[in-house]
Amino acid sequence: MIKGGCLCGAVRYCADGEPVFQAFCHCRDCQRASGGGHLPVAGAMRETFSTTGETRTFQTKSAKGHDATRHFCPACGSLLFGESSGAPGLVMIYMGTADEPSAFRPQMRIFTRDRPGWDAAEPNIPAFETFPPD
Ligand SMILES: [Zn+2]
Ligand SMILES: [Zn+2]
Repeated sequence: MIKGGCLCGAVRYCADGEPVFQAFCHCRDCQRASGGGHLPVAGAMRETFSTTGETRTFQTKSAKGHDATRHFCPACGSLLFGESSGAPGLVMIYMGTADEPSAFRPQMRIFTRDRPGWDAAEPNIPAFETFPPD
């Protein structure tokens, strides 16, 4: 189970079960949206995911041409989770907002072509220039 919420507490979320995947995403969109060198992302099954409080959204096109929608708190601006039309069954939780961020167990890095040199390369986990192979 992953529980979390935004900086001001207006938005809370909960996902039951184990994450489907856990990855660092270094893509430029995640960098711009977060202000950091990567986002720690845990995939949760949509049917297990629930929220309280209203989010605002911002949509971009993913590198594969899918609609990528990021949800953030309209009051405090915390970036909370995302969705992609390419994976409609999944919600991507940005794990810095989890109540227990130390539970995150990154399994891979994606979009390392965009990783800045100052963004730590540890731990040594599988890394992919863009998406991992299907
Ligand atoms: Zn908030
Ligand atoms: Zn990304």
